[in-house]
Amino acid sequence: MKSFSLKTKESICKTFPNKSCCIDAEIMGVLLFAGRIDNGGIRVSSESAEILKHFAVLVKRSTGSPVEVKSAKNGYFCVLPHKKLIDMIIRYESSTEKLSDLFANNDCCKNALLKGAVLGGGVLIDPKKNYNMEFITSSPNVVRDFGELLAEMGFEFKSAKRKSSLVLYSKQSDTICDLLTSIGAYAAQMEILNVKIEREMRNDWNRVANSENANFDKVITAAIRQIQAIEKIEKTIGLDSLPDELRAVAVLRKENKDLSLEALGEKMVPRLTKSGVNHRIKKILDIAENKL
Ligand SMILES: [Zn+2]
Repeated sequence: MKSFSLKTKESICKTFPNKSCCIDAEIMGVLLFAGRIDNGGIRVSSESAEILKHFAVLVKRSTGSPVEVKSAKNGYFCVLPHKKLIDMIIRYESSTEKLSDLFANNDCCKNALLKGAVLGGGVLIDPKKNYNMEFITSSPNVVRDFGELLAEMGFEFKSAKRKSSLVLYSKQSDTICDLLTSIGAYAAQMEILNVKIEREMRNDWNRVANSENANFDKVITAAIRQIQAIEKIEKTIGLDSLPDELRAVAVLRKENKDLSLEALGEKMVPRLTKSGVNHRIKKILDIAENKL
């Protein structure tokens, strides 16, 4: 079965940028994470043929030359001999300018570059397990420059070192959803939102259920103690020995074992408040537990 990550990436392969500036920006995003210069050409690798076919269309539109996607042991690759693309990588590696100044001058291009980066090096964890999105690379420069672009776009990602890789990651569902929206990954964004809503509803429901159980348990425990006290009085000195106001409460409690103090008060003639009932119950408990 395809991972959530792969499904999301393949879902954004169906659309292509309209403007040539954005086409180059998306290509550069892919190259940043998945391209490396190899024997005078650029080798781009991916786990998915569909992603590379999408990339091949972008390259064809940008350079006019076709690209052949080949299968390798652990996935797919293509080799790009195109001077234009090699120059893009050299320009990136030899410049001190910001990534957005180099390849995403227009606002439209920033999203395109981001989309390319997701296709080239993005990993999205299934939201049912965890909210987590990562960009993985081995280049400290890419972490620095791409991290800067993410921050410029308002996406807060942290960096970390993991074995031989460097990772930019976010565990914030809001950040991940906003990023997915900006690259057109609407289905994935909806899926994360749905998981989030379901999780929040379940939490609310559990909270209500727990508090009701807790209260219910408290009422029962208190009522049992009161009834034991009343029975003790009955067996020893008898309920008739109690002052009238206490006896009335004791009799009513015996007859209504499951009622709250408030409800008992409402049954009294004349009616008593909850604290009035509580006051008398305490006296009954005191007699039974301390004086008998
Ligand atoms: Zn553009």
